[in-house]
Amino acid sequence: MSSRRTFLQNAVVGSAAVLSGEKIFAGPVKTMEAILNNPIVISTWDFGKAANVGAWEILQKGGRAVDAVEAGVRIPEADGANQSVGYGGLPDRDGRVTLDACIMDEFYNCGSVMCLENIMHPISVARLVMDKTPHVILAGDGAFQFALANGFKKENLLTPESEKAWKEWLKTAKYEPIKNIENQLYDKKKDPMPGGIKNHDTIGMLAIDAAGNFGGACTTSGMAYKIHGRVGDSPVIGAGLYVDNEVGAATATGVGEEVIRIVGAHLIVELMRQGYSPEAACKEGVERIIKRNPAKAKEIQVGFLALNKKGEFGAYCLQKGFTYAVRNNKEEKMYTPKSIY
Ligand code: ASP
Repeated sequence: MSSRRTFLQNAVVGSAAVLSGEKIFAGPVKTMEAILNNPIVISTWDFGKAANVGAWEILQKGGRAVDAVEAGVRIPEADGANQSVGYGGLPDRDGRVTLDACIMDEFYNCGSVMCLENIMHPISVARLVMDKTPHVILAGDGAFQFALANGFKKENLLTPESEKAWKEWLKTAKYEPIKNIENQLYDKKKDPMPGGIKNHDTIGMLAIDAAGNFGGACTTSGMAYKIHGRVGDSPVIGAGLYVDNEVGAATATGVGEEVIRIVGAHLIVELMRQGYSPEAACKEGVERIIKRNPAKAKEIQVGFLALNKKGEFGAYCLQKGFTYAVRNNKEEKMYTPKSIY
């Protein structure tokens, strides 16, 4: 065993003993041996399954979690049929596709871009903000200029399908987040509605690599038909995503304004630090949203997804309909979390 590995083993077993002595953790603490060489990636919604494949390629070769999550979420970002992330995302009310994304590694390093236009992979721009600048967030035209200066290409992200949906929406121009949605092209025959296509989601992805370190990424086109310049929770570190290598990681999807108000992802990580399981922490997160405004909470979707240091995962949501995808050495599987309503 390498000296680094011996050090890690001693460090984790040691700190777990201290914490369990204070009765902070319920249940047995896994040894470092169980944590090492057990990579896992989890991500939001059905499209998380395809995204996990990209992440898993890196994780199974022993790559870093932060590299895996970046590679993973680039898959839905490039998928024009996915109308809530990257290319093909539904535009704002002015017909502009504006993207939000952030990424975080095992050292609390983080990078974020907000309201970025005409760049296919906002997650990779966020990664560069993290790796190459003294800043955490770049927004709007500044983020775009930074992307161009770093070799990204200017591209039109508005697909004919999303343009058509926007034009249809303009007939009523009513801003109304629609709950319980999945990101495939909307099937009008099944559920006819003005605007034709349902209108928000995010890919949030969390991973642990073979060395036991975390990474997380989150990327979205946000709420369809939002006011130009609106930024949701997804690129806000602590709201849409948070990673703490000592404890775990969490991510969010759903109406971002509600997630920002409770600083959702950070809340969930801190609850896990106190001994909550990932599922119990996510449940507490959605309950906070209900507490603030119970009537509103009934009308919207918010889902949280979390992963702890032992590799345990869980999720919870307001409404039925949220799903998440898991990939590890044992399984490649979709889960449907419990919901409040
Ligand atoms: N959280 C995203 C936003 O508010 C949208 C979503 O995940 O549904 O921009």
